[in-house]
Amino acid sequence: MDARITVLPGDGVGPEVTAEAVACLATIAERFGHRFQFQEALIGGAAVDATGDPLPEATLALCRTSDAILLGAVGGPAWDRHPRDQRPESGLLRLRKGLGLYANLRPVSVHPSLEDASPLKPEIVRGTDLMFVRELSGGLYFGEPRSYSDEAAVNTLPYTRVEIERVARVAFDLATARRKNLASVDKANVLETSRLWRKVVDDLAPAYPEVKVQHHYVDSFAMALITRPRDFDVVLTENLFGDILSDEAAVLAGSLGLLPSASLGGSVGLFEPIHGSAPDIAGQDRANPIGTILSAAMLLRHALKLSAEALALDSAVNRVLKGGHGTGDLKGASHLHGTRSLGARIREAIRPPRKKVPRLVDSAYSWCGSPEGHSSNH
Ligand code: NAD
Repeated sequence: MDARITVLPGDGVGPEVTAEAVACLATIAERFGHRFQFQEALIGGAAVDATGDPLPEATLALCRTSDAILLGAVGGPAWDRHPRDQRPESGLLRLRKGLGLYANLRPVSVHPSLEDASPLKPEIVRGTDLMFVRELSGGLYFGEPRSYSDEAAVNTLPYTRVEIERVARVAFDLATARRKNLASVDKANVLETSRLWRKVVDDLAPAYPEVKVQHHYVDSFAMALITRPRDFDVVLTENLFGDILSDEAAVLAGSLGLLPSASLGGSVGLFEPIHGSAPDIAGQDRANPIGTILSAAMLLRHALKLSAEALALDSAVNRVLKGGHGTGDLKGASHLHGTRSLGARIREAIRPPRKKVPRLVDSAYSWCGSPEGHSSNH
């Protein structure tokens, strides 16, 4: 397969973790006989510094014409005092909105070798296997009117039936393919938008008779999530609640640096780790690249429909974790690595497909980027 992948490294640890994920994709391309073309573009603070705009028109245009987008992270203290439309985060929000990405999938599972990495007891986290479906293009982050003065500030939380229904369908479909259990999280005892959320989910439920739906208030769900996480399968929620709850769920997995995400709904998908730009460890070869590498696996599965290749990458990560390898954020890792050496371990663990595939010719090889990750064209 030929695929064009736009890479948006962004800020802080973003360039470090995307370099490892791109190198893994290049290894997959080589082992499975595909040709992936990587093109880098600016976003976030790096784009503000270069162009004054956190999402330059050229970046959006490139994203729109690619088969998938891999992003690192945006933001950092250097841009914290910029006006809202020149802040790195507003570039990411505009990208998601501009591409019509309304469903953010965030899988959270606990690797057996990392049951001790969580501050929670192993018997609580063991066997956790969740899929968050967070609404991504509506709600409080986008609602108008919004205003700020030093004396009063306003944000607005709007949702329409159409916005809720389309993301709820994604969650119902995922629940159907998984353990057929859907937890819908809202605050319907206080918020009108949540009452509508609950009504739309209930209206859809008869179309998915196999799926058991349970409604939860966000405050009590926040507690249930870390006291009995095994009870949940697919978790559907609106933008703000999903942002907060999925970071909370990272505690179950052992580190924020492990968790991937996929943003879907438009014509091209965006794949990124759930963590931020981690300015405290940026440039030190300390960031865990696994969240971004697993995001690359989601890219293979959801954007390119290459499920065997996605599985090969997931399995490589699992084998490396099982061997006790990890970065410093993983409590209990017996073999400590930097970002680059953990990425190299994972690439070594990517096994070729069982059936023989023709070797790529040299010109295609450089187009894919070298298997060691120092791609010549990104
Ligand atoms: P953060 O996720 O960047 O960091 C939180 C903590 O987790 C830090 O201690 C950090 O060192 C650690 N951490 C994060 N990723 C890690 C990794 N891969 N490996 C090891 N440790 C890791 O969140 P923050 O500190 O609240 O935000 C920093 C900046 O990132 C802010 O500017 C924020 O706006 C931005 N941010 C961006 C995104 C995004 O790009 N999607 C998401 C969240 C925050």
